[in-house]
Amino acid sequence: CPLMISQQDTKAGKTRVLREVFGFEAFRPGQESVVNALLAGLDVLAVMPTGAGKSLCFQIPAVVRGGLTVVVSPLLALMEDQVAALRLAGIAADTINSSKGRDENVAAWGRVVAGETRILYMAPERLMTDRMLGALRRLPVRLIAVDEAHCISRWGPSFRPEYERLSGLRQHFPGVPIAALTATADEGTRKDILERLLAGSAETFVFGFDRPNIRLSVGPKRSVKDELREFLKRRPGESGIVYCLSRKKTEDVAAFLKQHGIRALPYHAGMEKADRLAHQNAFMTEPGLVMVATIAFGMGIDKPDIRFVFHTDLPGSVEAYYQEIGRAGRDGLPAEAHMLYGLEDIAARRRFIESEDAGEERKRREYQRLEALVGICETTGCRRRALLSYFGDRSESCGNCDNCLDPLETIDGTQLGQKVLSAVHRTGERYGAAHIIDVLRGAKTQKVLAAKHDRLPTFGIGGDYKKHEWSSVIRQLVAAGFLRLDIQGFGGLRMGDRGRALLRGKVPFEFRQDTLRRRAGVQSAKKSAAPSKHLSPDQTALFGKLKELRLRLASAREVPAFVIFSDRSLLDMVQRSPKSRTEFAEVYGVGRRKLSEFADEFLAVIQTDSDDLKA
Ligand code: ADP
Ligand code: ZN
Repeated sequence: CPLMISQQDTKAGKTRVLREVFGFEAFRPGQESVVNALLAGLDVLAVMPTGAGKSLCFQIPAVVRGGLTVVVSPLLALMEDQVAALRLAGIAADTINSSKGRDENVAAWGRVVAGETRILYMAPERLMTDRMLGALRRLPVRLIAVDEAHCISRWGPSFRPEYERLSGLRQHFPGVPIAALTATADEGTRKDILERLLAGSAETFVFGFDRPNIRLSVGPKRSVKDELREFLKRRPGESGIVYCLSRKKTEDVAAFLKQHGIRALPYHAGMEKADRLAHQNAFMTEPGLVMVATIAFGMGIDKPDIRFVFHTDLPGSVEAYYQEIGRAGRDGLPAEAHMLYGLEDIAARRRFIESEDAGEERKRREYQRLEALVGICETTGCRRRALLSYFGDRSESCGNCDNCLDPLETIDGTQLGQKVLSAVHRTGERYGAAHIIDVLRGAKTQKVLAAKHDRLPTFGIGGDYKKHEWSSVIRQLVAAGFLRLDIQGFGGLRMGDRGRALLRGKVPFEFRQDTLRRRAGVQSAKKSAAPSKHLSPDQTALFGKLKELRLRLASAREVPAFVIFSDRSLLDMVQRSPKSRTEFAEVYGVGRRKLSEFADEFLAVIQTDSDDLKA
């Protein structure tokens, strides 16, 4: 077998496997160190951002070391895709799982026992039975990889009880290196993984969190539907995820998009399992589909060509935001993350935390996390820099976020702030933003009249500003701590000490004029850089034909299109325009197996295309 590589040869081996099997030129940052540690037989904890290429970190050692590698993964769909992708690369991969029939599982196990299988994917509950453990101990297990390892931590939000049983692994397989991989970086989670999975210590690698190809932007929330439509209009035919806080909203928004001719499907945990799977499959296999989902959708979604993630609501924390936007642009091509955010989001998130059945300490920490995210939303500086500094990375301004591309002006908002504070104060510090705005703008609503607020000196002093402008002022006052949201009291606004200081003119308030522009990524779309934008019309046409071929091949094999080739590979074909198999082998993502399987068909399309052009 050409892939059998002797142990002494591992150094050359890993690079050969990278090039010849996976068709990649070089390791990405971090990958090689993890591969080296595993080849040296060490336990590893690798924290790498989504899309950084964690899978390769254990797949390459699996091939180089030979024997059997067991991969634990929480999601069936993910396992199936990885197995399909590995097989296309010519690696004997298998999965044993509950979604397959008994016969299929028995056949798969037969291949494992016969020593044919190199990489075996399993869910934790299946692995950790006495029978399976006993059987595996009689086989040459050379490596165990635990994907999404943060699921073992009770600390984080993604805890899975079935992961807890993995804590027995270290004892069951002495001498076999264990690789724990995750994209979740925070200290507590890391410590938990080390303790529960790796007997307290392991080579730990934490790699940069920057995903420079994802453009970041945040806009004030006004009409979610209008802004979403505006955003999507500029991105026809692109795959993306729209995250919503509630199940109902996903259904509403998906229906709304459908009415407007956009192919969209809802996804949330309350749906029938079959529907959920069908929608997920459609998203994975069909091009240009918009998934409107709650956060139930996402973990392990290994689709490299997701072009945007649109948040219609504020996520729960910086970590969550980072992980969710990280699903975009895994192929390294330009992608976009846009978020809508308003005062109601801050209120909703605080209510969530308040209603949680958790200790004071935990709540305090959750509030801090929320604050940090709000800070990123409100910053006038580079958003990426703010985001990365949260994870402890220093960086320069990125040039690829809304604030870098289109700097916001701040004005001295002291007087604006004082007007609001005085209205809050004079109405007794118990009304919500809507009422305060009515008072400021001099609206004689029933509520205003009933409370005689039309007689206050602040009544009507803010008529020159629009409603949404005042709501921005109030949101920023809350975010900066001048006003406090009374969560128990239905979002009533109160004045904190800082607020009193502002009212007395002791501290200034800087107001960012985000209300006048910044609608749903409009400005960023101006300079939008869709991956195929820099192609000539002819190249774009060829790109389209290659995509068609890819889809045909994928459907015939019942795998997602990107398992055949990523967009990036197709673009590389367009640009290189290979004329021979030798040239085709140079294309990004073309390994030996894909060369023999697909070269002819793709070369034929490329050839015909260039003949047409000459004719
Ligand atoms: P993660 O699990 O870290 O989110 P994946 O393992 O799914 O990321 O990899 C993301 C994408 O990057 C995949 O399409 C993969 O093929 C690609 N990739 C991984 N390593 C490399 C590399 N060294 N060179 C080029 N592409 C790579
Ligand atoms: Zn920036």
